[in-house]
Amino acid sequence: MDTEMLIGARFEAGTENEEHILNPKTGETVLDLPEASLSQIDAAVDAAEKAFTSWAHTTPGERSAYLLKIADAIERDAEGFATLEALNCGKPINSVLNDEIPAIVDCYRFFAGAVRNLHGPVAGEYMPNHTSMIRRDPIGIVGSIAPWNYPMMMMAWKLAPAIAGGNAIVFKPSEQTPLTALKMAKLLAGILPEGVVNIVLGRGETVGNALINHPKVSMVSITGDVATGKKVLAAAAKTVKRTHLELGGKAPVIVFDDADIEAVVAGIRTFGYYNAGQDCTAACRIYAHAKVYDNFVADLTSAVSSIKFNLSDDTENEIGPLISKRQRDRVESFVARASEHKHMEITTGGQKAGDKGFFFAPTVIAGATQEDEIVRREVFGPVVSVTRFSNVEDAVTWANDSDYGLASSVWTKDIGRGMKTAAQLRYGCTWINTHFMLVNEMPHGGLKQSGYGKDMSVYALEDYTAVRHVMINHG
Ligand code: NAD
Repeated sequence: MDTEMLIGARFEAGTENEEHILNPKTGETVLDLPEASLSQIDAAVDAAEKAFTSWAHTTPGERSAYLLKIADAIERDAEGFATLEALNCGKPINSVLNDEIPAIVDCYRFFAGAVRNLHGPVAGEYMPNHTSMIRRDPIGIVGSIAPWNYPMMMMAWKLAPAIAGGNAIVFKPSEQTPLTALKMAKLLAGILPEGVVNIVLGRGETVGNALINHPKVSMVSITGDVATGKKVLAAAAKTVKRTHLELGGKAPVIVFDDADIEAVVAGIRTFGYYNAGQDCTAACRIYAHAKVYDNFVADLTSAVSSIKFNLSDDTENEIGPLISKRQRDRVESFVARASEHKHMEITTGGQKAGDKGFFFAPTVIAGATQEDEIVRREVFGPVVSVTRFSNVEDAVTWANDSDYGLASSVWTKDIGRGMKTAAQLRYGCTWINTHFMLVNEMPHGGLKQSGYGKDMSVYALEDYTAVRHVMINHG
């Protein structure tokens, strides 16, 4: 197992506090990893600064070739990466191997193509005898900070467009899930020029904090909690850094009376519980029309109670445990508080599961109302609430009545109604008759306190490059 950070061309262990890296399926320690010291963080930033001077002037074609090599190398070692990610996150091996790794490989390949197709407006004379043109240039050193729910995928979403854009990067994985980032460090060091990507380990309040406050870092890209995003903004204000924030979500799902209920139930069974609900786009807040509500709750309850987890043959598991005891306790406390209210009913799940590890049974909470905590706050666990609505205006108002604005979905056979509702929702993404589907060609990112800045797509490449104007006087 790779255990050392990447600073320039050097591999070295951190020198500070050790973090226990756990296997969430058992709660046992996999290994202890020390975090970076302030001088190691400085060294990583200096290595990025040194690399940037030449890396910034490579051609898109050259950077594209590097990205393709990275994609190929991940694909060749797909099983190795998937096994490590499954160990560190407790994810079912098949989810990582069959869903995540192909999407990660495709992300590097997408940006390899996109960077060769990044165009600006044509040069023109907007003043007599003066020709103007637009350049898209790298921003500089990007401090990238990732969460624990999809460690390797978030790394790809952050590294691929930043590398494509000609930036140099200091990347920090979540302190809870650094293992695939350390394996990636070895892979990247064998492909990229020294210092283009540096990887440091450590907690948010120490290493993360040093990175977001570092005077040489020009841009901070973070995926995490809203509270963490606000800290990044406060730190960024000191030296006016660019920020790219992907924060939480609480995705509303509007189920109209003409929806194909079988398809909705199958959809929510998958999209509400995938990755044990530890997903900022999870379909966790359902608004079902009164005409279909009772049947929908009954069918969803029965479908969710059949989700397979904590089986000894991991290839049969559909979801894994939560990432930590702390996260499971948090989920449990949300459900306990909901169960104290008479108007809500836990129709399946509702408690911890298994005698070891951090499992929580997939849960449906029916009868929730707009004011309930379970409808308003991000649980980040396998818990879906269902709320009854009678008129469409209420459903749209309630769906929009959230601090979050990342993802949403509408389920109806009437495509006109679907389109009209999609236009009224204030979310970075609205799916119609599906949920959760992401493609590297299309942007992912939020409105409101879910943050701003896009991952994936050419919009991410735009975020990781600066628009510049060059004017020539030829009079
Ligand atoms: P978190 O905010 O606690 O941590 C995210 C990362 O930020 C970690 O690497 C952490 O070490 C770092 N961090 C924490 N405090 C910091 C600080 N003061 N300075 C610098 N860095 C700091 O979030 P988490 O618990 O790892 O992840 C779960 C959260 O992420 C959820 O709220 C979820 O909704 C959100 N998330 C959002 C998206 C999205 O695309 N919008 C995707 C995945 C996860």
